[in-house]
Amino acid sequence: MDVACRVKEMQADPAQLGKARILLVDDDGRKRVALAAALGMLGESVTIAGSGEEALRILLKEVFAVILLDVKMPRMDGIETAQLIRGRDSCKHTPIIFVSAYDQDECDMLRGYALGAVDFIFTPIVPEVLRAKVAVFLDLYEKTQTIKRYGQQLESLVEQRTADFKAEIAEHLRTQDRLRHLAHHDVLTGLPNRLLFTEKLQQALDNSRRHGGIVAIIFLDLDRFKVVNDTMGRQAGDALLKAMSIRLRSCVRPGDSIGRFGGDEFAILLNDVASTDDVAPVALNVLSALQPPFVIDGRMLFSTGSVGISLYPEDGEDADTLLKHADIAMYRAKEQSGNSFRFYQAAMHAHALQRLELETELRLGFERNQFLLHYQPQYDLRNGRIAGVEALIRWDKPGVGMVPPLNFISILEEIGLIVPVGEWALRTACEQHRAWCAEGLPKALRVAVNVSGRQFDSGHLAETVLQTVQRSGIRAECLELEITESTLMKNAGLAADQLRGMTATGVRFAIDDFGTGYSSLNHLKKFPIDLLKIDQTFVRDVAIDMDDAAMVSAIITMAHALGIEVLAEGVETLEQLDFLRARHCDYVQGNLMGRPIPGDQIKAFCEKGPLLLQ
Ligand code: C2E
Ligand code: MG
Ligand code: MG
Repeated sequence: MDVACRVKEMQADPAQLGKARILLVDDDGRKRVALAAALGMLGESVTIAGSGEEALRILLKEVFAVILLDVKMPRMDGIETAQLIRGRDSCKHTPIIFVSAYDQDECDMLRGYALGAVDFIFTPIVPEVLRAKVAVFLDLYEKTQTIKRYGQQLESLVEQRTADFKAEIAEHLRTQDRLRHLAHHDVLTGLPNRLLFTEKLQQALDNSRRHGGIVAIIFLDLDRFKVVNDTMGRQAGDALLKAMSIRLRSCVRPGDSIGRFGGDEFAILLNDVASTDDVAPVALNVLSALQPPFVIDGRMLFSTGSVGISLYPEDGEDADTLLKHADIAMYRAKEQSGNSFRFYQAAMHAHALQRLELETELRLGFERNQFLLHYQPQYDLRNGRIAGVEALIRWDKPGVGMVPPLNFISILEEIGLIVPVGEWALRTACEQHRAWCAEGLPKALRVAVNVSGRQFDSGHLAETVLQTVQRSGIRAECLELEITESTLMKNAGLAADQLRGMTATGVRFAIDDFGTGYSSLNHLKKFPIDLLKIDQTFVRDVAIDMDDAAMVSAIITMAHALGIEVLAEGVETLEQLDFLRARHCDYVQGNLMGRPIPGDQIKAFCEKGPLLLQ
């Protein structure tokens, strides 16, 4: 190997400096060449410095496996240079081999070892000895470097693993946070759900117990929200609830909380209220916040709500009781008129319990066949004969007697039981009609059955009617379905479609309680109606009140102009009867002609003959 190539003087390319593993420090040029030549056979690069100072400069930039240091040098000798080398962190462990003449005394060697020399080599140099000594340190250096590299790799591996693990933990914590949020919030509105709201309420109660102060719960339920969902679709309903939650936020102070309990139920928690007088204004704010129309899917929607309020400590000690009482108060507000608020009163609880009991009794009553139908005759004023009967439900409640429908129909409607009960009434009336025909009553006798709005909403009314007609064998035109005006008006467009869809069955339709539901002439034209039943509130004073008389006359004229027949309900006096006949009312029904009676008495009733009309 070309020794000259391996040996680099200080002027050599600095890029090569990094490769030098042996630093040779000697002021004697010839000795340097000789040493370098001997070392060159090791195949390692050698960096040469001509003085201690130069060596120190090189050591500032490079790290060496071993330093060969001449002891005797002018200005700074090898001992001093070694001392300074040992003083530096970067090279305090680099092995130093002193190059010295044999003639130096032992004392120098001891100082040299004391300064960290690892070995001595004496001139004249024996190349094999030099190489053997240097090779030991080169090997040592190599091994140390390998160990260091392994150490670094291990460290970076540990770092990487730790980073992965940390990222995993962070993700896990984020997932946990998300789950916790989901478990405590309503997805649609982002408001606290019942669970979180109850926790907040419990905290507020604890706080109040310690420091005094009133806590109020305002419970809000939207009036007729189901109609929005049913007619405009679930998405519109959701959009309304979202918009609602935004408006509610504007009604409360920063420390108060709002929660959504599912469906159209919201609750507001008022913390630390100074006086009960401060609660009603918030409830009013809530109701007024709902007043401006909501624009959903480009359509204006008007919504109102019913609000119930309970207060700590007077209405309950714990969260559950307070929530239950606010709920009861809300129901009272809804029952009364909707769009209003009520404070809880102990009496309401009793009412709620009573109501629950009644619901259960009604369900059992239906199962145990305690419902029955009575029939009230309807007379044709043109010939005085019975034209038909109206089926009216009764509840024969054990230990109580006959309960009139006004005491329970609205509850059946609320709990949805009116649908099966209404179907039962339809079936029973049609079967009764068959029995009357078998007894010899005219086949053309009509039977009218009341149909609730809930049956309309159920979506299978037409099918039920068709099936019942077919099974009972009643002539379709003998069956008349009575639908109240308010049911039709609730959703005039949909109702008209449904009625038109049912005309194919051939049954007749009557508008019941006409005059109470604010329908307009325009609406009447839309419905395929055969009969209009004037509500008894107009008939009652028809003979004495000019306004009622004018109204009834107008209704009869208007209906006839549209090709619709008219029946007057609740006729109790001869004066009423005379008035109606004079105005060409087609039919009458009322206590004057006959009260509702059981089906098996109808034949005898009919046999009494026609009305005596002058
Ligand atoms: P409605 O359909 O308008 O029935 C007429 C009501 O007026 C009946 O009351 C009847 O007994 C009463 N009435 C008849 N003539 C007179 C009279 O001269 N004077 C007075 N003051 N009242 C008279 P009822 O039987 O108590 O029924 C009340 C309401 O309950 C019915 O009013 C109807 O809306 C509802 N209803 C009855 N049966 C059913 C049913 O099977 N299904 C549904 N959905 N509703 C029913
Ligand atoms: Mg009726
Ligand atoms: Mg009526």
